[in-house]
Amino acid sequence: MSTPRPGADARLDPAPVARTPVARALVALALVSLATPACTPQELPMHAHSPVPSSSPAAPPAATPAAAPATWHCRHCGRHLFDQSEIKSRRPLWDLGEEKAEVFVLESAAGLDGLRRYDASLHEGYYCCRFALMRMVVDKFGTGRDLLAYVADVVGVPKGGEVPTPRPAKRGQVRLGARDFDAVTLRDDGVLRVVKLSATWCPPCRLVDTALGKIARAGGVSGVEVLEVDVDDEQALAERLAPASIPTLLFFYGGKQLRVQADRVASVRGALVGGIPSARLRTILTAVRDAARRGQTDISVRGS
Ligand SMILES: [Zn+2]
Repeated sequence: MSTPRPGADARLDPAPVARTPVARALVALALVSLATPACTPQELPMHAHSPVPSSSPAAPPAATPAAAPATWHCRHCGRHLFDQSEIKSRRPLWDLGEEKAEVFVLESAAGLDGLRRYDASLHEGYYCCRFALMRMVVDKFGTGRDLLAYVADVVGVPKGGEVPTPRPAKRGQVRLGARDFDAVTLRDDGVLRVVKLSATWCPPCRLVDTALGKIARAGGVSGVEVLEVDVDDEQALAERLAPASIPTLLFFYGGKQLRVQADRVASVRGALVGGIPSARLRTILTAVRDAARRGQTDISVRGS
């Protein structure tokens, strides 16, 4: 890891799930037993959620390439969030090395009233289908009381233009819900299944998404399938799986859940917790797959 900003290492720590409307109770409990340092609310990095590189977001729809955006919408569901006239500036917010985020700083947001609000110690956030806007309560990034929107999670639409359709799933991951969870994870077919429990607003989760995207672009790891459970979208399932923090990686092979540990990665009840850069993650996936094929169910990945 390079050290792009002071305190960046701390940002690799897992994020407590407490920010999900669901899982506050889980975390309070689980963080106590977490051996590795987890973010306290005050240390938590800003929330984020988009897996797309920051080069793609602000482009207007292809049909009207020359027209400037007039309104900005949630990239996931198309909901109107704010107008072009409400944007004060655009700036970087946090930097995890492989994963960075930029925000629009907003004077106001026309769509704010229709969003679901929640409180966190560091900021207040607003959801539409997903985490959409926020305002810092503690001015950690010098953004004052202005509203912030992640650039990669919104899309600008010119006057009279078409609101975009929802974007495709994250690269290298298949979304998994409660209905199919057991059938998929307990399949005994020689494939290592890795279930990533995560949320869109969690920077270390995003780091794992970026790492998985890199691995997928390079051809993936044969015999390994990665599945995603969004703890906001799948609240009942998240409660059942009860991750100590997110991101959490669970491993399944041969119809059973494996217990996995890896040097330099936090492990809680046989699951790996926290942001893992791509090279390390590839090593872990390969090593766990090979050990599982040898019949091991309690696996320790040594070295880097
Ligand atoms: Zn939305």
